This record gives sequence, C-alpha cells and structure tokens, in this order.
Amino acid sequence: MDFETGYTMTIGGRPASGDGTIDVVNPADGDVFAQAPRATAADLDAAVVAARAAFPAWRDTPIVERRRILSEAAQRIGEHAEALGRLFTREQGRPLPLAIQEVKGGAWWLRATTKLDLPVEVTEDSETRRIEVHHVPLGVVCAIVPWNFPVLLAMWKIAPALLAGNTMVLKPSPFTPLCMLKIGELLRGLVPDGVLNIVTGGDELGPMMTSHPGFAKISFTGSTATGKRVMESAAKDLKRVTLELGGNDAAIVMPDIDLDAVVEQIFHGAFYNSAQVCIATKRMYIHEDIYDALRDRLHEIARRVTVGDGAAPGTDYGPIQNKPQHDRVMALIDEAKASGLTLLQGKEVPAKGYFVPITIVDNPPEDAHVVTEEAFGPILPLLKFRDIDDVIARANDSDYGLGGAVWSRDINKAVEIARRMDTGTIWINQNLQNTPFTPFAGAKQSGIGVENGAAGLLEFTQPRTIFIPKAAIA
Ligand code: NAD
Repeated sequence: MDFETGYTMTIGGRPASGDGTIDVVNPADGDVFAQAPRATAADLDAAVVAARAAFPAWRDTPIVERRRILSEAAQRIGEHAEALGRLFTREQGRPLPLAIQEVKGGAWWLRATTKLDLPVEVTEDSETRRIEVHHVPLGVVCAIVPWNFPVLLAMWKIAPALLAGNTMVLKPSPFTPLCMLKIGELLRGLVPDGVLNIVTGGDELGPMMTSHPGFAKISFTGSTATGKRVMESAAKDLKRVTLELGGNDAAIVMPDIDLDAVVEQIFHGAFYNSAQVCIATKRMYIHEDIYDALRDRLHEIARRVTVGDGAAPGTDYGPIQNKPQHDRVMALIDEAKASGLTLLQGKEVPAKGYFVPITIVDNPPEDAHVVTEEAFGPILPLLKFRDIDDVIARANDSDYGLGGAVWSRDINKAVEIARRMDTGTIWINQNLQNTPFTPFAGAKQSGIGVENGAAGLLEFTQPRTIFIPKAAIA
C-alpha cells in the first residue's frame, strides 16, 4: 500500500474523497506536503447512515468474534508500523523512532483492550427472583481526537467502543489526519463495512458531528475550551459524553530524591513530545533544599538535547505540531521575558519550521501565566517550596485536575501526598504511564467520564437491568 499519496476517507468500508481538500503541513519545515479530504455534510450523513446500518449485526456478533476481528486489526496496523511511523513524523513532527513506537503502542493497545470483558452482573439471586444487569452497546459513537497522539488516542476510543458492540465515525484533528486515514484504508475488508468510518475535514466538521442527531455518544479528547462546546452541543439531544480535556499537572519533588537516578525521567516527564502531552508535568514544585541542584541539572539536559526535524537521526525533540500552537507557546515565552522572569533555555533551534527551544522558568510568581495556563509546549516553570501542606494547596489550586507526580525515596510519604492531590491520576517516581486496564479520568475541568479499564469500557454501554421471577404467576 502507498502511504505517501491517495488519502481517502473510509465510509461504509469504501473510499470517499469529500468535496475539496485540507492542506497537511510538515511542522518541521512549515510546508504543505499532502492533502486530506474535506468531508461535506452529505459525507457525514453517509458515514452515520453506514454506521447505523452496520450496528445491529455488529452488536449481535459474539464478543469473541469481535475480539478476533479487533486483534487482527491490531496485527495489521502493527505490520505497517514503519510506514505509518514515517507518515506520523511528517504530519506530527515527533522523532521517527518514537513515532513508530506510538503506532506499535496503538496496535498493542487495541489488542490488549480486547482482553476486557462485559460480564452480566447479578445483583440479586433469591428464592423469588434473579436480577441481571446486562451492558449493551449504545449505537453509533462520534469520536474526536487531537493532534498530539493521533494514533494512540484514536485507539483509546476505537478499541473499547467496538469491543462493546458499538459502531463509530471517527474524526482525527485537521492538523494530523493522514495516519488515521491510512489506518481506515488498511482495515477495509477486515472490520465489517460501516463499523469504523473515518472522516476528515476542517474546523467546521467537529461541530457538524457533535450536533448530528444520528450519534448516541460523543467520545472527545481535546482542550477544555472545546470540551465545553462539545458538551453544550451534545445537550440538545442528550447524547452521552466522555470528555478527556486539558491539564496543568504539578510534580512535587521531595528533597530526598536520588538526583542522578531520576533527573532524566523528571525531564522526560515534562518535555516528552515537546511537552505536547496532556499529562506532562507543567508545573514543577521543588523542595528548597534541592531546588538549585535540580534546576541546574535540568538546564544541563536542556542544553544537551537536540530539538529538530523528527525525520533526522539524532533528534530528541521535534517541533510544535502546528502554527497556532507554536504562536501561543512563543507568546507565553515572550510575555515571561517581558515581565522580567528568568528563562533558562536549551540549544538554538532551526529557524524554519515550528520550533521552540526548551525553556525552563526559574521560580516565577505563582500567578504568572506560565504557571496558571496549560502551555502545551516546552516551557516549564520551576517553583520552590518548603512546607508540604503549602505545596499541596498550591498544586491543587487549579481548575484542572488531570494528573500529577510525586518524586521521593520515601514511598509511604509519597503515597500520603498522592492521596491528597485533587487529580484523576498521580504517579510516584514515574510519569506518563497508562494501561488499557486502568481507568484514566480527569478531575474538575480536566474532563467528564473515564477512558480505559473496565470503567472506560462501560462508558460505551448502557445498563439493561432485567428482573426475572423464579416462578410464573399462578
Ligand atoms: P482542540 O480542542 O483544539 O481539538 C481537539 C479536536 O476537536 C480536534 O479534532 C478538533 O478538530 C476538534 N474540534 C475543534 N473544535 C470543535 C468543536 N467546536 N466541536 C467539536 N470538535 C471540535 O485540542 P487540540 O489543540 O487538538 O489538543 C490539545 C488539547 O487536548 C490540550 O488541551 C490537551 O491537554 C488536550 N488533551 C487531553 C488529553 C486527555 O486525555 N485528557 C489527551 C490529549 C490531549
């Protein structure tokens, strides 16, 4: 299969080209290198009609057979990981080995999720009656994903939704449409027609989808601002929603850490994917006893690593994925400079393309924008603390509540701190970890609902409770 050209949507198992195209830009040079189809309202209708038509048969397919098909789909995606990875780097910017890793990881996630089950629960089994709770699929799911993990986050939706017996219309970000278009093409003929439809388009397509009456549920990953619009639109006909939104994760670094052992991981937890990660460390609270030492070590790494074209060997960090995001991050850096904050930056970055130097901000005030806003780019504020109650209060003082991290050699103490953090996930002496068997959910304005794990699977179902008498009425 050709991964370089011929990008088509998948609607009802067949290719569809839309009306017109959207440009796809390589963020490493800012040049347009491909076009993706622009779906019309009629294309979206056709995708919803195909998904609705496919639903009864897919719902009634035994789960073991759905498992088999999804595992084969995972296998097929994994077999094309190198070609998809190259395409991923061109559209997303991430260094090639890590791009291939995401495709392989996405395929693995799809297969692993099929190990989950939807058993019938029995809440009472007495002499007079048995009460069974069945978890039945909802219908057609609208899935909307962002550009920072375009394959993995799509799999987080496809795997549980289809395993549970739903069908789907999925929309990748207009900034990164190509890998998912090719994955749609790869799976034609394997996943039954209409079960998984992939559509692409510009900014108009998302709102068209969320207001479309043919969907039973919206599963959305993106910013908090957009999530609020999605929820508003879904309210019109009470579509179910799962919203995985933004974060401003705090890490708390205790004075007893073994600096040599963890400094690389701490850096990685903040800057992986050029910090375009919802669960990246975005505020780092460091105990005053080790503040200077850790700051200097982080700066040292920032000066050592290479930011550049993800297709070039030896690149550690790629560009910001798109121009609007690049401009937002640069504006935050410029504002920090203008307000007299101390910036510790890494190596110079290429002038062409959407590059931002790795930037550490040395102990800014708590109310600086670099602290209060989700930068979603490589600008990390380091903040000093002395008292544990004070730092927990500062970490929790955010409308976001996605994740957080505690770094300490005293695991019990770290767990105690973790239990007081007002977020959906807290990592101890690690970061950025998730598994298909573990619920992932944002607290506060970081989201509504759950992805992954048994709880995430249940979000794609509706309980159907059946009261069964033990004897017929005489
Ligand atoms: P975004 O909200 O701009 O876009 C996300 C998706 O929504 C894209 O596909 C976009 O085309 C679509 N969209 C835009 N406007 C829409 C509308 N009105 N109705 C429906 N769909 C619409 O987010 P982004 O810039 O692509 O991604 C970055 C954000 O995503 C960050 O805030 C990040 O923290 C968040 N994120 C969250 C998670 C998580 O699991 N919690 C994971 C990754 C990213």
